[in-house]
Amino acid sequence: MSRKSWSPRSLAAQAMGTIDPVTKAVVPPIHVATTYIRDEDNGYATGFIYGRPDNATTHEAEGLLAMLEEAKAGALLFGSGSAAATAVFQALSPGDHVVVSKVMYWALRNWLMTEARRWGLAVEFVETDDLKAVKAAVRPGVTKLVWIETPSNPLWTITDIAAVAEIAHKAGAKLAVDSTCASPIHTRPLTLGADIVMHSATKVLNGHSDVIAGALCAREDDEFWGRVKTVRKGQGGILGPFEAYLLMRGMRTLHVRQERQSASAMALAERLSAHPRVARVLYPGLPQHPGHDVAARQMENGFGFMLSVQVTGGEAAAIGTAAHVELYKRATSLGGVESLIEHRASIEGAGSPCPTDLLRLSTGIEDVDDLYDDLDQALKAGHA
Ligand SMILES: *Cc1c(COP(=O)(O)O)cnc(C)c1O
Repeated sequence: MSRKSWSPRSLAAQAMGTIDPVTKAVVPPIHVATTYIRDEDNGYATGFIYGRPDNATTHEAEGLLAMLEEAKAGALLFGSGSAAATAVFQALSPGDHVVVSKVMYWALRNWLMTEARRWGLAVEFVETDDLKAVKAAVRPGVTKLVWIETPSNPLWTITDIAAVAEIAHKAGAKLAVDSTCASPIHTRPLTLGADIVMHSATKVLNGHSDVIAGALCAREDDEFWGRVKTVRKGQGGILGPFEAYLLMRGMRTLHVRQERQSASAMALAERLSAHPRVARVLYPGLPQHPGHDVAARQMENGFGFMLSVQVTGGEAAAIGTAAHVELYKRATSLGGVESLIEHRASIEGAGSPCPTDLLRLSTGIEDVDDLYDDLDQALKAGHA
């Protein structure tokens, strides 16, 4: 039997099935060269000229991610998620108006409130789960970009990608989506009308807490995407080949990890909802979550590996609970195979909508009963 195309699961498992032509190795080599031989006619038939824009290992990892995101114009890898995100804003011009989610990754919000404004961007923060608010904020011909994060840190607010894409496009603006916490396993924003998808590949795409990396994927190879490529090349933001190799290795198991991690997150959300020391569980998979219906429409294979809990007993009990975990690791970041817990209000800067009684949980691949038992004993000890 021969099929024209294999499923994304199969292609990812084999990192697109590329075989090294010289050795027939099933694992691709890591290309470390910073420069390439020029042809005798002075050209570069291979297209590889210099390592800052051109690296075969990085391009292979980009090809795998572009396949997963159904990104027709391809993917670009950066040295961090923040480098990827800021490249999109730097591809705009001073004076441009941008509308961004109020609930989003705190460090990017800080950058937008300070550096982006210094650089002349008119940045407007809006609750993007409220479509009326998005409509009111987006100005036809003036707004050049709408930036959303869904599910968004650390409340897991859900924004309707297709609806916001329509509003943005009607006004002549692009839509970019920080899809770090959904990953292509749950949502492929480009198929819902988004123009650009951003990932902190540091998180679940790599999945092993050992690489800092970022990515952008695009639907159309248009003038704006060309600007983004120019920014990466000019500012030297490309991901190095060792990190790209590790990221590609991580993405081979993305489906397996994500399915396990989101199934465990769902089970934990349900069990913690009934815990006497938990006031509220924030998880889009729960029917009472305000974004549940939209999430059910635009997410598949579960609702992601991230959830937050608001504990009874306020900030002291939240910090006390985090102090008593044994299996969970008390650390920032998310998306790795090990489960992490964090009191977010301690780290989020000015303008954060994060309540002080909130603990953010990144669900790993450990035994889910162990994870629950650890939280149960920590919640009890933390309220003592
Ligand atoms: C971590 C994170 C970022 C920033 O990525 P880095 O790789 O740390 O620069 C951006 N958005 C979200 C949602 C994140 O979790």
